[in-house]
Amino acid sequence: ATPMSVMVAVGKAAESGILIRQDAALQTAAELDTVVLDKTGTITEGRPSVTRVIAAPDQDEETVLRLAASLEAGSEHPLARAILDAAEERGLKPQPVSDFRALNGKGVSARQDGALLRLGNRRWLEQEGIQLGLEDQARQLSDQAATPLFLTRDHTVIGVLGVADRIKADAAEAIRRLRDRDIRVVMITGDIQATADAIARQAGVDEVLAEVLPEDKAREVEKLQKEGRKVAMVGDGINDAPALAQADVGFAIGTGTDVAIESAAITLMSGSLHGVADAMAISRATLRNIK
Ligand code: ADP
Ligand code: MG
Repeated sequence: ATPMSVMVAVGKAAESGILIRQDAALQTAAELDTVVLDKTGTITEGRPSVTRVIAAPDQDEETVLRLAASLEAGSEHPLARAILDAAEERGLKPQPVSDFRALNGKGVSARQDGALLRLGNRRWLEQEGIQLGLEDQARQLSDQAATPLFLTRDHTVIGVLGVADRIKADAAEAIRRLRDRDIRVVMITGDIQATADAIARQAGVDEVLAEVLPEDKAREVEKLQKEGRKVAMVGDGINDAPALAQADVGFAIGTGTDVAIESAAITLMSGSLHGVADAMAISRATLRNIK
């Protein structure tokens, strides 16, 4: 495109809250045939809240929630915010822990009174050799689109928390616009399959990549590219940054992390997924004008 038509298009996009940081993306956007969407914070609001606290038979809910909050006090993850807020609402104060660790895509661990506490997903705890429990309860939560987090003390499950996040009000409509243009839409997430499927149903996405570790998101984008697809990645988190950089066009959610925004060619200021179809339309119009 001529410098003039690109400038006009970049200006027009900016008026709709689409910030094009790399001019080349304006041309590539017209060629996209696949859109990969992160789940948390991209399709969903990214403000999860605790919907259920389930205690093992010899425990009580307050203890479970207080211990969970004590573990999450050192974490920056949106799930941590949800748990700390729920504890505060019930007047439960987090207690000091030692040896705190946050494990990307897995959960958190710390020590208290000599015991090793963990809070995270089933797959991680299984890898740690923990005897699982409360599995029926966890499955019920995931079928209702909540993320189940298992709380364990040493080798025993002592509770499960359900954390849920609503999909954005206009997400389903924005995704339908893409699919109407025969764009392949894929949801990608570190969350478990059942929860991811429940969210995907609400959003109208039928292709789901779940339980993808943060470091593997970029590899999934690359796989699609090797199939010959022109891929857009849309994401908000630190864990989306490599995939945003790998994609033919990266779209960062404007309310997301700085790392995501710096890794993406385009920023969607309002966070609305309509920005993806809008950017593609502006791109097509720009290319038409110069031909
Ligand atoms: P997403 O791809 O949906 O943004 P992440 O890769 O950040 O998700 O996390 C994937 C999963 O890892 C979460 O669904 C959760 O089970 C677990 N997890 C990650 N961080 C935490 C945490 N601070 N506390 C509990 N669980 C966590
Ligand atoms: Mg996210």
